[in-house]
Amino acid sequence: MKLHEYQSKQIFSRYGIPIPKGRVAATASEAKQIAEELGGMVVVKSQVLVGGRGKAGGIRLAKTSKEAEEVATQILGMEIKGLPVRKVLVDSAANIDQEIYLGITNDRAARRPVFMASAAGGVEIEEVARLTPEKIIKVHIDPLLGLRDYQARDIAIGIDLPKEYWKQFADICRGLWRAYMECDATLAEINPLVILKEKSLIALDGKMLLDDNALFRHPDLSEMRDVDEEASAETEARKYGLSFIKLDGNIGCMVNGAGLAMTTMDIVKLFGGEPANFLDIGGGAGADKVAAAMRIILTDKNVKAILFNVFGGITRCDEVAKGILAALKDVKPNIPMVVRLVGTNAEEGRKLLADAQMITAETLADAARKSVAAAKA
Ligand code: GDP
Ligand code: MN
Repeated sequence: MKLHEYQSKQIFSRYGIPIPKGRVAATASEAKQIAEELGGMVVVKSQVLVGGRGKAGGIRLAKTSKEAEEVATQILGMEIKGLPVRKVLVDSAANIDQEIYLGITNDRAARRPVFMASAAGGVEIEEVARLTPEKIIKVHIDPLLGLRDYQARDIAIGIDLPKEYWKQFADICRGLWRAYMECDATLAEINPLVILKEKSLIALDGKMLLDDNALFRHPDLSEMRDVDEEASAETEARKYGLSFIKLDGNIGCMVNGAGLAMTTMDIVKLFGGEPANFLDIGGGAGADKVAAAMRIILTDKNVKAILFNVFGGITRCDEVAKGILAALKDVKPNIPMVVRLVGTNAEEGRKLLADAQMITAETLADAARKSVAAAKA
């Protein structure tokens, strides 16, 4: 789950990381009100769940509350990378001397969390990573020992941070580490962490990704989910207990089991196709769930063919077939559908689907080949 900047910074603040004064607004008049309360120069920042807002014109400075209102009106009317801006954060503006990048994520290959930092922070960190990776320093953390003081110092030295900031910087690193661990985050990032002209450090931007599988431990954090900002298909899928991730291809995949779903996607690619989604309907999925899954797949206009790959273990193939038939009544898709059913009650399932004008396949390779051909036709 992605958190907004204002949510991430609120969490950072709980862990002692300094953030600018400010609040979030849903209307331009609220933004004006906040700017008045803050006094002085403010920055009005679009709250959308994508990066690069600055470059897209979604971050603007305003000298007066009147100007903040005007700027907020413009930003609230914008779309950034296809996402409508519904909220803006109004923060006291900062006098920036230097922008630093500081983040923690999980390094799967190293099997431990990794701190990343760079003196070249700000809006171009992806470019820095691509062109001059040596400017990003990495320090791996033993999850059982946690961040050690010497490691925070190593990071400070690694980015040539002047010694006068070391103590503050170490406090911020410790706060970020605790936020990352205690919230079960998969990313906690400050970009930029700023050295102010007033000679102190402050987190100007914040980003957190939380592990969906750990959210049950954090009812307060799950409430932060902004369903307005998610692909609506993903929200819908969660309602039915389906694991669904939208992708860019044109072959809709409906599979039971996460491993089988991944394999299906791989095989589709192997035969020259691109999957439109990852979808695991789960073990023991009944007709309702299958119908919901099919409706969700079909909301994606890119989908040119659907591949059903069902291995009946706990899930019974006839149940899945009933679900497909129910969904067909409901959504009446006019795209080709390829189905491969094997396992428990496969024969019954195939009989049910005999009149449904679906392309049947025996093996997964056969199903993938037929789907790719169908999507191209
Ligand atoms: P992003 O583009 O989505 O990463 O949004 P950020 O919050 O990181 O802002 C992008 C850039 O806007 C920062 O790197 C700063 O250069 C600038 N910026 C953001 N807040 C302020 C501010 O309070 N004062 C000034 N002068 N610049 C700011
Ligand atoms: Mn940023």
